[in-house]
Amino acid sequence: MTPPRNSTAIRDVASVLHPYTDARAHQKNGPLVITRGEGVRVFDDQGKSYIETVAGLWCAALGFHNERLVQAATKQMRQLPFYHGFTGRTHEPQVDLAEMLLERAPVPMSKVFFANSGSEANDSAIKMIWYYNNAVGRPQKKKIISRLKGYHGVTIASASLTGLPYNHKFFDLPIAGILHTGTPHHYHNARPGESEEAFATRLAEELDAMIVAEGPETVAAFFAEPVMGAGGVIIPPATYFEKIQAVLKKHDVLLVADEVICGFGRTGEYWGSQSLGMRPDILTCAKALSSSYLPISAVMVNERVFEGLADGSAGLGTFGHGFTYSGHPVAAAVAVETLKIYDEIDIVGHVKRVAPTMQDGLRALAGHPLVGEVRGMGLIGAVELVADKATHANFDPALKIAPRLVKIAESHGLILRSLPNDSIAFSPPLVITEAEITDMVTRFGAALDELA
Ligand code: PLP
Repeated sequence: MTPPRNSTAIRDVASVLHPYTDARAHQKNGPLVITRGEGVRVFDDQGKSYIETVAGLWCAALGFHNERLVQAATKQMRQLPFYHGFTGRTHEPQVDLAEMLLERAPVPMSKVFFANSGSEANDSAIKMIWYYNNAVGRPQKKKIISRLKGYHGVTIASASLTGLPYNHKFFDLPIAGILHTGTPHHYHNARPGESEEAFATRLAEELDAMIVAEGPETVAAFFAEPVMGAGGVIIPPATYFEKIQAVLKKHDVLLVADEVICGFGRTGEYWGSQSLGMRPDILTCAKALSSSYLPISAVMVNERVFEGLADGSAGLGTFGHGFTYSGHPVAAAVAVETLKIYDEIDIVGHVKRVAPTMQDGLRALAGHPLVGEVRGMGLIGAVELVADKATHANFDPALKIAPRLVKIAESHGLILRSLPNDSIAFSPPLVITEAEITDMVTRFGAALDELA
């Protein structure tokens, strides 16, 4: 059907500069216009329904219509639509939310700082670390290490943390003082015959060598997602974080867990840190914090970091960082309601129950001629397409194999997300049922067959 001249699609091409989109291709192909959502599905402007296999951007944990969140937002908007937290002002929603996060933290945390996005949370964490080290008299200790293929956002500092070429190339990033160490992906990065254990040991040794080469007195923090998401859904070897944390401890380097994707049940525990054995000094989260219904993110800091910050701000007179919308009351009220719902429906128990259906269903595709590795845990997973199953070589990018699969899948009623190395991500709304998972995996298998 030809869309009418004034359709949303035509107006979009004429007016919107899209995030993460090939602008020229978009002028040619136009957008997919989504008009409404229901459960794990969204609907386009032609009324066609799609299972959202990545919960939007790994975030709509409660699905695409939850009336309680609508009510929570409406009630708070009527009561107090805005107030800020500068110079010690506050309101109940942000206090409730801070308390709830501290009660649920994977390790003892002291205080919560609020921002609006994952990028802002990670940017804030970097600034807090720099401020902290100035405050405690270690002004040299400022370098930050993250990992190749890690994803931490797109602001100047968080994009520098991110370890993906298209976030750096053409943006003149990373900024100075942000370094990248190896990716814990055994499938691609292990040496021939290297066990997972030996691979993890080598990565920890490489990190140690990097810190020693830089000078431990100059290295402040290590940022890591428990499971790397946007870099390809990469599950590290079982002993990886134990070994990494021993290195960090030796050099007094803070650990920041970026739980923007993994937090709130995604990995089968409340936090990815619990699934992967991380004991962070600072934890950032966003996305499922409000089931993504309103933008809000949080940075939790432990007592040690808070005490340094507090001493610093006592000396300076103010901690000069914060956003107009830090702890926005409506976003905070929606997040509070979200966390209450997670408790009531036992979101972690639900994920544990349904995850095997997704993990086993995807793994059953491992024998498909186009599939190299299938990986995942909880309700996060990826299916990687390869040209050569023996060498694990991916397809020539010019073949655009993953984008083609994404397009085919649309005709099967699936919205897919392709990641680097032709990996297709799975991160559906956490409330997905086993029947819906089976439907999703069956449709995906059919799309794969059509591509083959
Ligand atoms: N950290 C992780 C692990 C993410 O996956 C993302 C976004 O996908 C971010 C940070 C950035 O969050 P935002 O897009 O809200 O800035």
